[in-house]
Amino acid sequence: MAKPIVAIVGRPNVGKSTLFNKLIGERRSIVEDTPGVTRDRIYAEAEWGEHKFVIIDTGGIEPKSDDTILKQMRTQAEIAVSSADVIIFMCDIRMGLVADDRDIAIMLKKSGKPVILVVNKADSIGAVPLEFYEFYELGFEREPIALSSLHGTGTGDLLDAIVEECDFSNEDKSDEGVINVAVIGKPNAGKSSIINRICGEDRMIVSDIAGTTRDAVDTRVENEYGVFNFIDTAGIRRKSKVEDRIEKFSVLRANMAVERADVCLIMIDAGDGITEQDEKIAGISHEAGKAAIIIVNKWDTIEKDNNTVNEFNRKIKTALSYMPYAPILYVSAKTGQRISNIYPLIKSVYEESSRRITTGMLNDLLNDAMTRVQPPSDKGKRLKIYYMTQVSSNPPTFVIFCNSEELFHFSYRRYIENCLRDTFGFSGTPIKIIIRQKGEDNSSD
Ligand code: GDP
Ligand code: GDP
Repeated sequence: MAKPIVAIVGRPNVGKSTLFNKLIGERRSIVEDTPGVTRDRIYAEAEWGEHKFVIIDTGGIEPKSDDTILKQMRTQAEIAVSSADVIIFMCDIRMGLVADDRDIAIMLKKSGKPVILVVNKADSIGAVPLEFYEFYELGFEREPIALSSLHGTGTGDLLDAIVEECDFSNEDKSDEGVINVAVIGKPNAGKSSIINRICGEDRMIVSDIAGTTRDAVDTRVENEYGVFNFIDTAGIRRKSKVEDRIEKFSVLRANMAVERADVCLIMIDAGDGITEQDEKIAGISHEAGKAAIIIVNKWDTIEKDNNTVNEFNRKIKTALSYMPYAPILYVSAKTGQRISNIYPLIKSVYEESSRRITTGMLNDLLNDAMTRVQPPSDKGKRLKIYYMTQVSSNPPTFVIFCNSEELFHFSYRRYIENCLRDTFGFSGTPIKIIIRQKGEDNSSD
């Protein structure tokens, strides 16, 4: 089943992002190894012991806004309440307990969700300062935790508390062999229609995820291709009335759905062509490293000639140039055209993203690649590549050890990626390549 979601809430500047970064640790640097990643993540996976959960930094949702603090807080609290299983409420010991903290506490209590109150910036080692005790006044069930996000002290206690509050009873077990599919796209692209169409008579369970109040609705389907769990994000629109809210919520919902998914179906409305919003939504899938299929829906509404598909393909490839790996399928949820191609395609891209290549095969490929195109050199120094190994799948992630990260230009990385794709396929999935420098950088020709 889905990983529990933990949201960090609190006034600006209390240290939410600092804690977020601390908790997600190594993950961030791996994310940054993907070319073209610029957006700060507000959503990431964290681990403690054998448990995995997902953390949202609600402060990052709306970095710039003229809203009053309280209004921003209300939005954050709403998101946290609607989406999270556990809420981390952060205060600042240097500021002490302030009026806004009390207001937030009231909002959070109304949610009925478990709240872990953390008092941040308790940097000094030793006795907890007296100011800490005033936070008991907020009256949460759980004892507050003193924290220094900067130094990392107290984060162990916090992680223990998170694990205590989360329900991991469904973790992974019932999920084995199930392919999670997120259907993402702007409102009205046809997400619900396509889910209805492809789930049709195969549909077995239609329900909210057991035991949570999350908004995304999951639909489980079993057929000759496997067991699929579709995550619908369409509920968004009906939840809020204000226009800019819709945008914000839909992006966050899409983020959450994508994080839980193995494969993303990126729905594009053929009538509108590819829009900026589509680019943004597809970017979420790419940055999360998920296998993806681009589905151009409402193909029945388009007047076509010999060139229509080529023209569409070209536009999509240009707009989504960062994801050339994603196959494009032209369908109509209304007439059912090519809908039957979707399952085999999902299965295929999932298998591609799950593939493991042995180190032996990778190094044969590497030697071959280096013979054909010599590694770059600069100022008499040449890039030496020692070896390559696959460290994980979904997406396939490779580490290449070399003498100099600096010399490993983007173009050579791209070349190696192309060699990997030419040899092994990986159709439908992004590939991550991590470059690691090893040993002394003393190579000169
Ligand atoms: P956010 O707005 O709640 O996300 O807060 P940030 O994470 O951006 O932190 C605001 C400021 O507080 C930054 O200057 C941080 O370096 C600082 N800060 C965060 N955590 C701590 C801490 O544990 N101790 C101290 N002394 N400063 C911290
Ligand atoms: P969602 O917001 O992405 O879930 O979109 P919906 O599934 O609710 O569809 C939005 C509208 O587009 C509805 O009126 C659907 O009937 C219509 N629609 C969806 N798919 C198609 C299609 O393939 N062809 C046509 N002509 N209309 C479609």
